[in-house]
Formats: sequence, structure tokens, C-alpha cells
Amino acid sequence: MNIGLWLERCGRSHPEAPAVGYGDDLVLRYGELAQRAARRAGALRERYAIVPGARVAIIAKNCPSYVETMYAVWLAGAAVVPVNAKLHPSEFSYILEHAGAGLAFVSADLADQVPVYGDLKLVVLDSPEFDRMLAAEPIAAVPRDAGDLAWLFYTSGTTGRPKGAYLSHRNLAAASYAYLAEVDQVAPGDVLFHAAPMSHGSGLYLMAHVMRLGVNVIPASHGFEPDEVLRAADRWKRLSLFAAPTMVRRLVGAANGADVSGFRTIIYGGGPMYVADLIEAFRVFGPRLAQIYGQGETPMTITTLSRSEIAASDHPLWMERLGSVGRPFGFMEVAVHDQDDRPLAPGQEGEIVCRGPTVMTGYWNDPAASQDTLRGGRLHTGDVGVFDQHGYLTLKDRTKDLIISGGSNIYPREVEEVLQTHPDVHEVSVVGQPDAEWGEVVVACVVRSPGTAVAENALDAYCLERIARFKRPKRYVFIDSLPKNNYGKVLKRELREMLSASDLANQEGVKS
Ligand code: AMP
Repeated sequence: MNIGLWLERCGRSHPEAPAVGYGDDLVLRYGELAQRAARRAGALRERYAIVPGARVAIIAKNCPSYVETMYAVWLAGAAVVPVNAKLHPSEFSYILEHAGAGLAFVSADLADQVPVYGDLKLVVLDSPEFDRMLAAEPIAAVPRDAGDLAWLFYTSGTTGRPKGAYLSHRNLAAASYAYLAEVDQVAPGDVLFHAAPMSHGSGLYLMAHVMRLGVNVIPASHGFEPDEVLRAADRWKRLSLFAAPTMVRRLVGAANGADVSGFRTIIYGGGPMYVADLIEAFRVFGPRLAQIYGQGETPMTITTLSRSEIAASDHPLWMERLGSVGRPFGFMEVAVHDQDDRPLAPGQEGEIVCRGPTVMTGYWNDPAASQDTLRGGRLHTGDVGVFDQHGYLTLKDRTKDLIISGGSNIYPREVEEVLQTHPDVHEVSVVGQPDAEWGEVVVACVVRSPGTAVAENALDAYCLERIARFKRPKRYVFIDSLPKNNYGKVLKRELREMLSASDLANQEGVKS
């Protein structure tokens, strides 16, 4: 089954239904979108010799042409390689070469940053050449097997080189069904607002919205501007968006007191949402929040915390559940394993592993990493978690971020949760630093709220009142901002490097 069929069918059955918006305007209806994608697919085949199975990259910020380009690639039987537009040119070339892409669609602002090598062809989105593709004869969706490659998803790479998760048509279809069955229902005309990158989470929700005749709306800013999202909800109504927790925080700051009735659902995930922030978001947005926990290797689908669970403020376990990532998606088998890969009981912490129809086939051109990550037929997520008696999963940290101090395991997230509630703390990230006596010590890297000057002893007293003594940071480092990757995830590795570099400088008597 070719995932592009959903568009082909909607184009026939509901040609007049709104399909793509840009800013405040409706720019394409389903008939037009399907027709344009089919013509571009014809051009891919005729002009660019794209054969079924070929990889076609898209390097662009979110834009309306993104939607039809993805579908054109699928209709032609090829696979998309959406690349985060904020990456470094050397990362563009790494991904293009690694994927063996024969063609890349690039937005005009990035055209001079994408290196051309070998037979790679570049087409600038919305250029005269791009427009000429529409003169080609339209083609019908090329039949694909469910296991054929549809999306080569390059992981965000908080460590090492990005890896390409092989996502098949079946994986994408299953992820779409999971969304519609367990995260949110979509009716014709409902809006998905792409404020988060379409190369990642937001784009993965595109197909479910096409299947149900939703409207995919691209912000005029091509990205995330909190005020623009609020205006868009007012303009479009029944608007949903996928947002990383940092985006939700900023949206809450902008929305305080505003009318939020134009929002349908804010789906958050991709990183830890601190309970204090979630409660604040609930206060502002009401029962419009849903959480997903997933990773590129099983897109958006390991567990979900539903809208009704987040809204159940009178439930005795409400607070605990808000701190969890919810329960497994219906078709997923999710377990917590020990270091020897044996299943653990509820209450015991270990690595989260899972199996189900959304799990990738493997990593592209990386048999060793594929074998390791998928050992025993299960995806090893690299996340540490624990199930409670009721089947709710709580995420601790990435296995590599766990701190072992004086023989005790300390999860940075737990310490961050506490410090994050201090009014003078804008952002915080907790890491382990090697220490001769303790093995590792807990260090909190704190960004103070603007105009405040909170000191180490005040934060220490704050922690002492709230967490076990041994978990509290032994050291505080005040910095201007946290290093983050292009998806807004904190780069703990860089914090650890920063700490060891500053220690070295101190030892050598060099002032830093
Ligand atoms: P990526 O493959 O770039 O989407 O990153 C996936 C990783 O993000 C997961 O392995 C988790 O460590 C983290 N993550 C995803 N969803 C959540 C969530 N809801 N809460 C906390 N961390 C999350």
C-alpha cells in the first residue's frame, strides 16, 4: 500500500474540500493538491529519472510546497528524506550522501548551503524549474509493498552522527491510525497547524490529516511564533498543533488571558514536560492537551497520555499521571528491561523496549546499529523508565544521562522537576560530573529568570525541602542559555564538556 493513495482518493472523492492553508489563506483544495502532486510525480519520473525506491530529500523550512512535494515523491513510488532546515551544511551533505539521495528539493534561502556532489540534482522550491514540473502528465500512485521505504527519518543526533530510521509505508499508516484512534479525532476541515518542523513530528501527522480531509496550514513565519499561533487559532478554528514542551511553555506565556476557544488539541512530546509547566498549560488551555512519547525509530507511537487523563484533575493520582508519559498505544508491546534484557516488574526501573507495527525496519546502511537497537526483535529506546501498578509509564532519563553518585542512581529529571518550580529559575539542566570521591556528582546548570539573582545557597535550601539530600546538586553553574539542538532538545553532552573544560582551565590557573 502506497501512503500517497490517501491523497489520490481524497482528490477524487472531495475535490472541493480545503486542503492546504498558508498564513490566513486557503491555498489548495484536495482536487488541486492531488492533481499537482500527481503531475509532479510524473515529472519526477520523466525529467529526473526517479524510480520506485529512490530517495528524494527535502531541505526547507515549513512551506506549502512541502506538502505537495512529499506526496509527489510517494506517488512516484520513491521515499522522502526530510532534512531539518536548521542543520549545518556539513550535516546536509552527510545526510544526502548517506541516504544516497539522487535529488533534493531545497528552499531558495538554503540553496547555496547545500553542497552538490556526484549525480545529485537540486531543485529550488517555488523556482521556475519547480513550476515547470506541473506541465508533466499526471501519474497514478505507483503500487508499493507495505514494507517498502517511505520516509528515511534522520534522528536528531544528540550523540554522534544522525542515523536514518527506515520507515515503511506500513509504519506511516500505522502511526496515522494510532493518532486518529488514540490521540485525536479529525473531521473534515479540522486544521493541523505546522509550527513545529515538518521534517519531524509535525510532518508525521500530515498523513492522518490528509486521510480525514483535514487542512494542513503552514504559518506565514514558516516556524513557531507564539502570537501567530494564537491568531491562527482565532482565524482557522478547530486548530491542533504538535509542540515540543518548550513551545508549549512559550505559548502559555503568550496566551495567558487570551481566548483559546479556537484550539482543538495541543499535542506535546519529544522531550520532558515538567509537571509544573503542564499544570500551568492546563490552567490556560483547559482540556486541550494530549501527550505522546515516541522516537524517530517508532514515530510518535510508544505511549500516550490522553486529553481526558490530563484533564482529570479530581483523580487521586492526577499529579503522578501528569508526570508520566501515559499508557502504551493499543498495538504496541512496551516493556522495561534490565541490563541483561530481561523484563522487569512494575516499580522497577530499566530500559524501555517496544515492539509493534510502527517500529522501523532498521537503520539505513548501518547493520551493526540496527542489530544492536533491534536485538531480540524489540526496539531498545535508550530511555530509562518505570511502569506503575496501573500501567502508566514514567520516563526517567536517557540511559546515558543517568548519574551514579556514591553508588546511588540519580535521575536528572527528578532534580530538574524541583528546580524548575523555583520562580527565579528560567531553565535548568542537571548533569553528572566525574568526581574522585563520589564517582560522579550532581551539577545543576541554571539559567536565571530575567532580572533575578538567585544564589546557590537559596537553591540548595529549596532542594533540601523537596528531595532526598543525596540527590541535591553539589554544585550550581549559572549560564546565559542552555545548549540545544535544532529541535530544542538540551545537549547534555555539551554541558558535560563545558564543565570539564572549565575545570581544566581552573586547574591550570587560567581564568575563563
Ligand atoms: P527523536 O527521535 O528526535 O524524536 O527523540 C526521541 C526521544 O525524545 C525519546 O527517546 C525520548 O528520550 C524523548 N521524548 C520523546 N517524547 C517524550 C516525552 N513525551 N517525554 C519525555 N521525553 C520524550
